[in-house]
Amino acid sequence: METTFGFYDLIETFTKPGCAVCNLLQAETTRLLDSILYEYATDTSTQAAFRDSRGLCSEHGHQLTQMGNALGIAVLYEHPLNDVLRILQGTAPGGGSQARLMTRLFPQNPNGAIIDALTPTKPCIACASQAETEARFVKILSDFADDERMTGVFRASDGLCLPHFIQVLQNTADPSRSRLLIAIQTDIWTRLRDELREFMRKNDYQHASEAITEAEGVSWRRVVARMAGERGILSSRRTIS
Ligand SMILES: [Zn+2]
Ligand SMILES: [Zn+2]
Repeated sequence: METTFGFYDLIETFTKPGCAVCNLLQAETTRLLDSILYEYATDTSTQAAFRDSRGLCSEHGHQLTQMGNALGIAVLYEHPLNDVLRILQGTAPGGGSQARLMTRLFPQNPNGAIIDALTPTKPCIACASQAETEARFVKILSDFADDERMTGVFRASDGLCLPHFIQVLQNTADPSRSRLLIAIQTDIWTRLRDELREFMRKNDYQHASEAITEAEGVSWRRVVARMAGERGILSSRRTIS
């Protein structure tokens, strides 16, 4: 099968610790946040999307603050803050004819109009972009599940996190590819479970003389990431769905 755009990125990322799809998404998000900060001033569509989403989600907003461009963030965020203030001033209960009209339209809650106007109409730009990138890599993995170059690196890796493994299975209709994916992931998770068990066993005072291996020592951390995804990847998007 002809390789496709992103194939070699996936192959290369499987050689690094953690879920390859999560790692690719993290790298892409860093690039995107960087470009939002530096190109925002000249890109009116990004500007509009940024206002419609009232800035970034909590996870990506805090990531942005780690990027060391305080002035850029201030410039960027003044717009959604202004929008929110305009809404508060224009729709305050009893604050004008528009507000009275909205109160009639939302009789169940006097703050209905404000709530409606304040609520973001678009998802966080970084979350939306992550969803697209994720779909692309999930498809590549599923399309090339029986390609030896892919299975080789997948087998030797930390495996996918549970959410990405589920997504790949959802995208794989071919039974032999599905069996292969399940067999590889089963081996990887079995190894992890064995390491966790060894970690727990060696923590018992009776076995305190046995050295905990490096893999066992971080198995408790790895299982958290394998079950939920790497930090900042899926948790942020779950909050907007
Ligand atoms: Zn993942
Ligand atoms: Zn986000």
